[in-house]
Amino acid sequence: MACSLVPRRVVSSIYDLDPQELSSQGIRLVLCDLDNTLTPYEEPLPSPALRAWKEKLEGAGIALYVVSNSRKSRRCPAFCEALGIGYVRHAGKPSRKGYMEALTKTGFPASEALMVGDQIFTDIWGANRAGIYSVLVRPLAWGKNPLRRVRYAIEAPFRWAGKRK
Ligand SMILES: [Mg+2]
Repeated sequence: MACSLVPRRVVSSIYDLDPQELSSQGIRLVLCDLDNTLTPYEEPLPSPALRAWKEKLEGAGIALYVVSNSRKSRRCPAFCEALGIGYVRHAGKPSRKGYMEALTKTGFPASEALMVGDQIFTDIWGANRAGIYSVLVRPLAWGKNPLRRVRYAIEAPFRWAGKRK
């Protein structure tokens, strides 16, 4: 369903996504939310585990690309440049705009992409609207913002709906 809030797949973290398995499913592009999906909010640089996962993706013929709503001017560019990947920032998720920009910039069709993120009302809804296979992960950390827990509670029914699939 084009406007569904339900993720197509639910996993614990990005590391549950096996590059070889994705490749065998025809995936050539992994679009990814930045904060709380690839890395915790306060972390300025990619971890060794993240660097290794990105290398494995590339080894399987899959590009990693960030689609972020981050409003901090240097956050997304600095992180993605350190990891050696491209990005769309100020993506305006759940608008389709940022997803379409990422597809245009990388040259892949929506059918060969998937989107992974930690938020239903931005990452998942936007991916479903754009016709991109959506994968939900658990947020990496709660951080200092108490509203994150409230949002997570509101999202809970959609997380569970995804899990039963
Ligand atoms: Mg996020």
